[in-house]
Amino acid sequence: MDCIDVKCSVCGSSNTRPYARGWDFEYGTTLDEFTMVQCVACSHIYLNPRPAVNELNRIYPPNYYSYDMEKSVNAFALRVKHWLEARKITKMLSLCSADAPQCLDIGCGDGRLLDRLAEQGVPPENLYGVELSPKVVDELDRKGYHGYEGRVEELSLPANHFDLILTCQVIEHVSDPAEMFQAVNRILAPGGIFIVETPNTDCLDARIFRKRYWGGYHFPRHWNLFNRKSIARLGKDSGLETVTVETFVCAVFWIYPFHHWLREHHAPRKIYRLFWPSVNVPLLAFFTLVDIVLAPLGLAGNLRGVFKRPEV
Ligand SMILES: [Zn+2]
Repeated sequence: MDCIDVKCSVCGSSNTRPYARGWDFEYGTTLDEFTMVQCVACSHIYLNPRPAVNELNRIYPPNYYSYDMEKSVNAFALRVKHWLEARKITKMLSLCSADAPQCLDIGCGDGRLLDRLAEQGVPPENLYGVELSPKVVDELDRKGYHGYEGRVEELSLPANHFDLILTCQVIEHVSDPAEMFQAVNRILAPGGIFIVETPNTDCLDARIFRKRYWGGYHFPRHWNLFNRKSIARLGKDSGLETVTVETFVCAVFWIYPFHHWLREHHAPRKIYRLFWPSVNVPLLAFFTLVDIVLAPLGLAGNLRGVFKRPEV
């Protein structure tokens, strides 16, 4: 696989130490082994070297889950997910002072969070989605939203416009998170809110499975991984105020290590597939409870950073 060497996106240093190693345990798109490194200067964790841009079609195969949510996830798990998303969106909207907020979801996948915003009364013409897939963008336009194909860093979205911008499980995939924060700062309205959700490298499961099998590594698709300190630093460096950084439930990162270990140790496919998170509802339920207990301690699998563009 074609790979490139990169520097730390948070502080620009290239002085690193190895942190974890692994291969594409989930989709097997390559048998190459990859290394997560930790920046010696600022502790940020990132994949280096990482796949070159010409390899993106290979590492995001057609069956990649974010484009195929309805088909690949158990119906019960999907209903729970819908309910959790609706709760999350209510909470996010409560942070917004605008009556009919202009909202943008960066890396909106199949547009389901925009659907939740519409269900809670945000007019479709106020809803914007950015995604890399032209198929998804056509679907957003069909629903009356504004679909944009490309990277938010390169699109000419209106400046000082959005009251609420979200990006869920996306920033860990982008090449330069600092550049994304700067792009967001430009298009947020003064007083606008930016919410980032991403894996938490300080969670308990990441500590237990740190060297190889933790689900949050997602080799070789997660290029930058954060903890509360490093995500807050990105916000500050881009000129945003940090409102809160908290941790919340991510059951799947607990379950993937079983899958990855079994697959690497040549278990039969029908055995390791039992530990594919979306098909194992009992384990999902169990580790959801575990992470609910861990969240107030800052040890759950996901981070949610809430940032605000200063009023003046
Ligand atoms: Zn650094």
